[in-house]
Amino acid sequence: MAIVVQKFGGTSVANAEKIRRAADRAIASSKQGNQVVVVASARGKQTDELVADAIEINPNPPKREMDMLLSTGEQQTVSLFAMACYALGQKAISFTGSQIQMITDDAHTKARIQNIGTDRIKKKLDEGFIVIVAGFQGVDEEGNITTLGRGGSDTSAVALAAALGADTCEIYTDVDGIYSTDPRKYPKAVKMKQISYDEMLELASLGAGVMHGRSIEFGKKYNVKIHVRSSLHDEPGTLITHEVAKMEGILVSGATIHKDLAKIGMIGVDNRPGNAARIFTHLAKAKVSVNDIIQTEVSSEKANISFTVSKSDLDSARQAIEDIQETVHCQNVFVREDVAEVSIVGVGMRSHYGVADRMFQALADAAVNIDSITTSEIRISCLVDLDHSDAALTAICDAFQLDKPADKRT
Ligand code: ADP
Ligand code: ASP
Ligand code: MG
Repeated sequence: MAIVVQKFGGTSVANAEKIRRAADRAIASSKQGNQVVVVASARGKQTDELVADAIEINPNPPKREMDMLLSTGEQQTVSLFAMACYALGQKAISFTGSQIQMITDDAHTKARIQNIGTDRIKKKLDEGFIVIVAGFQGVDEEGNITTLGRGGSDTSAVALAAALGADTCEIYTDVDGIYSTDPRKYPKAVKMKQISYDEMLELASLGAGVMHGRSIEFGKKYNVKIHVRSSLHDEPGTLITHEVAKMEGILVSGATIHKDLAKIGMIGVDNRPGNAARIFTHLAKAKVSVNDIIQTEVSSEKANISFTVSKSDLDSARQAIEDIQETVHCQNVFVREDVAEVSIVGVGMRSHYGVADRMFQALADAAVNIDSITTSEIRISCLVDLDHSDAALTAICDAFQLDKPADKRT
């Protein structure tokens, strides 16, 4: 029997009616002869509400306690989901992350999965149950509850699909699939039939909140077929898959905007071997995830180093830099929170020229100033003023015709 993992995001389980519809889907798949594992998120905006509750009590809550609190949202959904299955005549059982031994490291609020127990799930599947697992949460070796970072239920689902050797991981959400950019920000965006893991990984890490970045890493590594689709209807969505030859012809597949960013600049760091290592080792020890790094030599004695971090890591990053500033003889540190990053992504960039200039010209025509530029083989990103970032996104989407199907773009 094939195993299918179905993940339902917050809006797809927001109330009793939606939970019932999601349960209907799971039961239908089970009736088709599949063994079904459901991964569910917290209902609606519940995680945001829990975050607000925490901040009201303590503006800087301990991360371990944050995980204790936030994990309760998913625990509520899975039990309700199991009850919905029973109401529809299907036996089902819910599990927390800890009950299925979803083992993670101890990086509270952004833990990484290390191992997943599958025995308990497989036993229940074999007994004819639909198994419903709380997304977003795990447990560290000491038994502390951890969470995987906002949006992390996607990663729970894909990792479980990998561990169980599932046929497909279906991600049910409030959009019809993956679009060329966030359709809420650029309503003319078009849906893609498929996208490569590499492109989706870039899009996700650059701010396309539709999929949690690490879920794509699991998908690619363990060959999990991921199908992102709407929970409202049965039309096929977008398949995330290995690259196929025809994708190379597509110059730019998608664009993103990332506002949850801050930039830290270190001016006049001593230009000698080991200083970059010192700085970034120190940041890693403080569990800060660093995004784009730019270092430039300003003289034989001095260099400037800047990098971006997510806003939630800014306090830890600031503290870490203060601690290391003297050691590396840094003359000045500045922080900018009023920035955002716009990016374009496409595997076709590897073999085409004239992509970067088109992006920069589009920003120039929209009178958007570029603070800094970073690139990889398949993406170009520009840091811009937060105030101009929406206009910047529209300008680059228009320039790369992201309102047209991929094969109609010139
Ligand atoms: P869920 O609660 O189901 O996990 P999310 O809110 O996490 O849903 O993700 C779905 C949202 O992602 C969409 O409503 C959309 O606004 C946003 N999004 C951002 N980028 C894209 C994109 N490229 N394609 C589709 N949706 C996107
Ligand atoms: N409920 C969590 C969040 O809102 C996890 C998820 O939805 O994927 O971030
Ligand atoms: Mg999500």
